[in-house]
Amino acid sequence: MAKSLYHWIKGEKLHQQSGKFGDVFDPATGDVVSRVPFGGVEEIAAAINAATDALPNWAATPPIQRARVMFRFKALIEEHMDDIAVLVSSEHGKTLEDARGSITRGLEVVEFACGIPHLLKGEFTEQVGTNVDSYSLRQPVGVCAGITPFNFPAMIPLWMFPLAIACGNTFVLKPSEKDPSCPLFLAQLLHEAGAPAGVLNVINGDKDAVATLLTDPGIDAVSFVGSTPIAKHVYATAAASGKRVQALGGAKNHMVVMPDADLEQATDALMGAAYGSAGERCMAVSVAVAVGSSADPLIERLAPRVRNLKIGPYSDLEAEMGPVITKEALARIRGLVDAGVTDGAELVVDGRDVSLQGYENGFFLGGCLFDKVLPEMSVYKEEIFGPVLSVVRVPDYESALQLVKDNPFGNGTAIFTRDGDAARDFSNRANIGMVGVNVPIPVPVAYHSFGGWKDSMFGASNTHGMDGVRFYTRLKTVTSRWPSGIRQGADFSIPTLK
Ligand code: NAD
Repeated sequence: MAKSLYHWIKGEKLHQQSGKFGDVFDPATGDVVSRVPFGGVEEIAAAINAATDALPNWAATPPIQRARVMFRFKALIEEHMDDIAVLVSSEHGKTLEDARGSITRGLEVVEFACGIPHLLKGEFTEQVGTNVDSYSLRQPVGVCAGITPFNFPAMIPLWMFPLAIACGNTFVLKPSEKDPSCPLFLAQLLHEAGAPAGVLNVINGDKDAVATLLTDPGIDAVSFVGSTPIAKHVYATAAASGKRVQALGGAKNHMVVMPDADLEQATDALMGAAYGSAGERCMAVSVAVAVGSSADPLIERLAPRVRNLKIGPYSDLEAEMGPVITKEALARIRGLVDAGVTDGAELVVDGRDVSLQGYENGFFLGGCLFDKVLPEMSVYKEEIFGPVLSVVRVPDYESALQLVKDNPFGNGTAIFTRDGDAARDFSNRANIGMVGVNVPIPVPVAYHSFGGWKDSMFGASNTHGMDGVRFYTRLKTVTSRWPSGIRQGADFSIPTLK
């Protein structure tokens, strides 16, 4: 029997009696495991009102007390790590180990938010003029909304709401309708940690709920992570409604393999980065750029490894890769592989027809490996978001760098080499937000900030780290003088302090 999910509003479950509902699948079996309500006008208004009502008291709560809630939240996430991992894996399909890793990356943001009293410290200058002082402080923005994708149901919500809330804001989260159970559970844990009712609300839904959050005057800031077309739309719509916006989009991440690279290390890196989580990561490597003589030995090493990938449901602890998220995603990925073949790329490993005994209705696809992919092919141009790696051969380093620079996406990239000069030049000249040197998935830790360039991000602020603190606060600067008894009279020109 499919479970009935709910919204989380004002510290309570809100079960929706009528309106629209969506199916949530176990991608390994293809079974519907729960029904998620799609919030309508009434439910969304209730979530925004709850956040609005909770704002004044929460914003006035001293940062040290907000930090203490974060400390307790951190402890509760650690205590429930295995339960959260099962919620992630059972609706997303990724392996339990991978789910735990992603929760840990989210937990690191909670740990960063525990330091909020220090992070919110302002600046003070004595004597900007005679007997005049100036100080700058950071105050909450107000009610913030977060709209998150399916591929990291724990980590990406955790990039957003802990820091926003630690900064004194209240929050309305609209998680992906494909795997909402984990964010609902996280909201319950935050409440248990001591966050007052209404500080975090979760409204489930699809694009209709998003449309309201982007335009409702009750929302002051919007954080979005998802695909590029939607990120662009979210950025334009929310900004036109006067909100501050950070909108992170899709990716096509290239890993450059230089002829002097340690090829065993590069192969291991490509296996994990291309096929881990079935390629459903915005930092997945989907293009290997083989420079000069590295191409043949790289393909030789990759092909048997891809052929022998262990594919299975999350309950199979030996599995290296699970299914993709939906039947539609499976059909779309297969279609792109078909197009690659039609376009003339060489399909070295074909995982299109993999079927698992006992899981025939699951959304499984084997690893696919293309060689001799050209930039004009759709398999190169599209973000596949599946277990498909394309090898593009280039003659030299400059051509590899040019390929990276010409790609419209700019989330992550990596170079594998033993040449420090090449690595330094690449880090300097690649027009990409996150660069790895012999590190395939260079996801910044929580106290640095995460974000891409070009079509991978719209808006000026990355997530978490100090960019996150800046995004979730408004800067105020106070210039103050205490009356000294000396009257100076009215001054009709712009004040300059002497
Ligand atoms: P998606 O864009 O389909 O959905 C993201 C969110 O937007 C969901 O909450 C969804 O309900 C909502 N949404 C969907 N269609 C909408 C519409 N027309 N109008 C308004 N809202 C809409 O993305 P997804 O399939 O859930 O996630 C995969 C995508 O996210 C990939 O492109 C991936 O690269 C990207 N992603 C990017 C990052 C990053 O940090 N840059 C991280 C993770 C995922």
